[in-house]
Amino acid sequence: MTVIGSATPRGAIPPTRTHDLDAVVVGAGGAGLYAALELKQELGPEARIGVISKLYPSRSHTGAAQGGVCAALGNTEEDHWEWHWFDTVKGGDYLVDQDAAEVMCRDAVETIINLEHLGLPFDRTEDGLINQRRFGGHTRNYGEGPVRRSCFAADRTGHAILQTLFQQCIKHEVVFFDEYQVLDLALPGGPAGPVSGVIALQLSTSELHAFRARAVLFATGGYGKVFKVTSNAHTLTGDGMAIPYRRGLPLEDMEFFQFHPTGMYKLGFLLSEAMRGEGGVLLNDRGERFMERYAPTMKDLASRDVVSRSIYLEIAEGRGIGGGDFVHLDVRHLGAEVLNKKLPDMSGFIRTYFGLEPLTDLVPIQPTAHYAMGGVPTDIDGRVLADETGRVVPGFYAAGEVACVSVHGANRLGTNSLLDILVFGRRAGKKMAAELANLPEPIVDADAEASVQARISGLLAGSEGERPAVIRAELQEVMFAKCGVYRTEELLTECRDAVAALRVRAQRLLVQDKGCRYNTDLGDALELEYLLDCAEATVASALARKESRGGHAREDFAERDDVGWLKHTFASRDPASGSMSLAYKPVTITKFEPRARTY
Ligand SMILES: Cc1cc2nc3c(=O)[nH]c(=O)nc-3n(C[C@H](O)[C@H](O)[C@H](O)COP(=O)(O)OP(=O)(O)OC[C@H]3O[C@@H](n4cnc5c(N)ncnc54)[C@H](O)[C@@H]3O)c2cc1C
Repeated sequence: MTVIGSATPRGAIPPTRTHDLDAVVVGAGGAGLYAALELKQELGPEARIGVISKLYPSRSHTGAAQGGVCAALGNTEEDHWEWHWFDTVKGGDYLVDQDAAEVMCRDAVETIINLEHLGLPFDRTEDGLINQRRFGGHTRNYGEGPVRRSCFAADRTGHAILQTLFQQCIKHEVVFFDEYQVLDLALPGGPAGPVSGVIALQLSTSELHAFRARAVLFATGGYGKVFKVTSNAHTLTGDGMAIPYRRGLPLEDMEFFQFHPTGMYKLGFLLSEAMRGEGGVLLNDRGERFMERYAPTMKDLASRDVVSRSIYLEIAEGRGIGGGDFVHLDVRHLGAEVLNKKLPDMSGFIRTYFGLEPLTDLVPIQPTAHYAMGGVPTDIDGRVLADETGRVVPGFYAAGEVACVSVHGANRLGTNSLLDILVFGRRAGKKMAAELANLPEPIVDADAEASVQARISGLLAGSEGERPAVIRAELQEVMFAKCGVYRTEELLTECRDAVAALRVRAQRLLVQDKGCRYNTDLGDALELEYLLDCAEATVASALARKESRGGHAREDFAERDDVGWLKHTFASRDPASGSMSLAYKPVTITKFEPRARTY
């Protein structure tokens, strides 16, 4: 192995090293780990399956997921996967591809049981069954009232999923490349494919590595760090969306970004919907339970887009707390037993970060940027689509939050994301295993390797320019203010122009650290470029969509318009000219005709 230390001149990039694998999974969250496990199980112990992750696997954001993962097990009351299917379609404001959502809701039951068999320690009922609780938008009998569908391990469900899958991957001898950041795809024949690997930076040494493989899965999570107030970890910078986008491949439905109603005021950290699932309620300055007015049946458990908008309306009408820009979450009546046993982490957050006691104090909350409904377009087996006609890119797969299948449409229901990453991570792993033998031998993409080398050398060489953090802060500010819960033509146009100006400024970044060891300064610069790409696609898609649907609320086009806009957006940028274009793809409707959405 090449040892990089003091002998390496500062700022120099060591030569590329190569690794030959059968399949590469980028990302060690729930989606990536389940896919890797499935690949090993399908292909046997001889298969060389590598997981590349810029974080140590157990630090992936899946581990921060709190409230639960849903499946119509019917363990505590009657439930059916068809009800779950309907709720998912309605929750997504009918932009969901119904064939894909059917697969997810059907597969959910078997997937949860499989996870239990892999060792996941779910909470139990007194009879020893997997316990279930309520979550927003999940209903009994097609909308009659809330149903208990979320399976959970206290309020640490994601942590339990991540640990279980990681242990299984270790057991099955998946090879891990921890703290390697993938920077490009090997696409020697151009964006139409086939994909023949990835190029990654080893963070501890700044060495470049080329991973050659016949199949590559992106499972790199979301891009919530594009917004100022967010529940997302610092590392969620949309790398896996920006990399194919830079190569001219499309991103689907990027205008749909979910704002979760209960972020901790100013901090953005999430207070799980499980707090309302267990009985918590929202109160305005007058102490009114205002959700009763906006969603008479589901009240505080209406879907997230509805609750976040209701909070903004209360604030706009002067009923924020003290006339300010937040409202209260009241969990006092849940009692010590529920707060300490079923919601221990949430209660701890409130005590630690606010110095408040959830048993006696009201908790200040505001909507926080949370989840990307859009992303890299795929079919139901994780195969990445090259365009809106459904042509696939051979050898390229995506699953988890980075992907758009689309099962969440315009708004995701709580607990459906953990389900999505598990069901589609697993399906993608199976499909990769099935297709591997028929994919071509990987060949070197010398152009991609040279261009990554040049990009990094360029960033390290500069001695003047702007600090990435300054531009990132401005980007987050403008995206939160102008492309947030409520949007207008004027705000979005200003936002588009601001993002374009920031892109120009970002061409001259100052990376002060010129060293090779854990150069986080360099990492910030690379991630800023990805955030800017994701922002560009998001704003362009939002500006074009002249209707309100799910997470995309336009004050100037307040109604949903099924005649004009019941279609998916595909945003792409021509790598040669830099010009953006938008194309559209019809929504697949197999059972539920679009109806007015009330909760
Ligand atoms: C605070 C919080 C609470 C949540 N609670 C719930 C919940 O209760 N229920 C629910 O259904 N959903 C919940 N969600 C959403 C859900 O957790 C996420 O959507 C889901 O975990 C994403 O999983 P993933 O496997 O797609 O990606 P992540 O778990 O985000 O993992 C991404 C992986 O990609 C790697 N990576 C990224 N870029 C690169 C790169 N360039 N090179 C190499 N590796 C890279 C990272 O290292 C990481 O391993 C929550 C989200 C948050 C933020």
